[in-house]
Amino acid sequence: MRPNQMKNWPRLLAGASSGALPYVTGAVVLAIFVVDTLTDLEIAFPVFYIAVMLMSVSFLEKRGVIIFSLACMGLTVLSFILTSSGAGATGLINCAICLATIATSTYLVLKIESAEVAAHDARAQLAHIGRLTALGELTASIAHEVNQPLAAIVTSGNACSRWLGSSPPNLEKARQAVERMVTDANRASAIIKRVCDLAKKAPPQKDWFDFNEAILEVLTLTRNEIELNRISLETELADDLPLVRGDRIQLQQVVLNLIINSIEALAGRREGSRRILVESKRKDSNEVLIGVCDSGSGLDPRTLDRLFDAFYTTKRNGMGMGLAIGRGIVQAHGGRISATAATPCGAKFEFTLPVGSAEGP
Ligand code: ADP
Repeated sequence: MRPNQMKNWPRLLAGASSGALPYVTGAVVLAIFVVDTLTDLEIAFPVFYIAVMLMSVSFLEKRGVIIFSLACMGLTVLSFILTSSGAGATGLINCAICLATIATSTYLVLKIESAEVAAHDARAQLAHIGRLTALGELTASIAHEVNQPLAAIVTSGNACSRWLGSSPPNLEKARQAVERMVTDANRASAIIKRVCDLAKKAPPQKDWFDFNEAILEVLTLTRNEIELNRISLETELADDLPLVRGDRIQLQQVVLNLIINSIEALAGRREGSRRILVESKRKDSNEVLIGVCDSGSGLDPRTLDRLFDAFYTTKRNGMGMGLAIGRGIVQAHGGRISATAATPCGAKFEFTLPVGSAEGP
């Protein structure tokens, strides 16, 4: 059971998946009960309750699993009382062993579940910190992106009051100035919204979305940084890219990290040879591929397999977490991420995502 499912299904059986598993589980419980009651006391049939208890973990929340396992234990005792054939002493020992086994298995299963929930929360927390770090690196650039439309609003506002103050007032020109102000205000507000979306700590979402649009949003946030560093940015975004299902913000974070890394890798390159290519394409009928390629310092083939390790960095102030977090996010979406040396120089990072069947984080 994925942790977010665990939280979203507060009721016991109301949380049952729409599939047939809960009914199958119920039928198996009934079958075990009947067979256990009809067979001799020497046969420790109730141990099969462990199997159904394990099945129940996939559609019940924690409290539900405990109650379900207590019910299995209750049925074990009831079968023991109802069964008349076989040696009573052996039956009693078998019954006690089965009860202890069911209780121990339930405890262990719930322990594993809580460890998974904790690991999931830690991953989400780490991803959030990673996003904040990435945004922190772009603060100046983002401030510039917001300031630009604000300055334009002031200019248009001044022009508007001049047109209105002239004699006779030029209403058409004033209207045009107001229209520009509205457009610029919307632009600033869209950038602020994007930053807030990336910065906020929201539980993972699973939505269908257009990855090209998500890429373009990330590029708005990095545009100024790219221009400041005199980098030529190219995009090759496929028109026929199918919608992708997953956590838009987390996947944008992956692209953002790759672009920031490319910008940093280009720092030492001669002006005029600094290039970044961001592409999206359909890989085959089941996958889309997103790539960020640069003409930067390049990758050392000897360390390629360490790039995605946590804390691996070659930068003086690097944390070495960007690619590790990115890989976690991509894998949680059922995809793969890889790095290759680009030709003639630079690095190429690509990740794939399944289309239509992504399970999401
Ligand atoms: P950080 O950026 O903090 O070092 P990352 O996990 O994002 O952490 O990157 C790990 C390392 O991978 C970097 O230190 C760098 O050596 C290498 N790397 C990542 N992207 C590129 C790139 N585009 N070009 C060259 N090296 C890269």
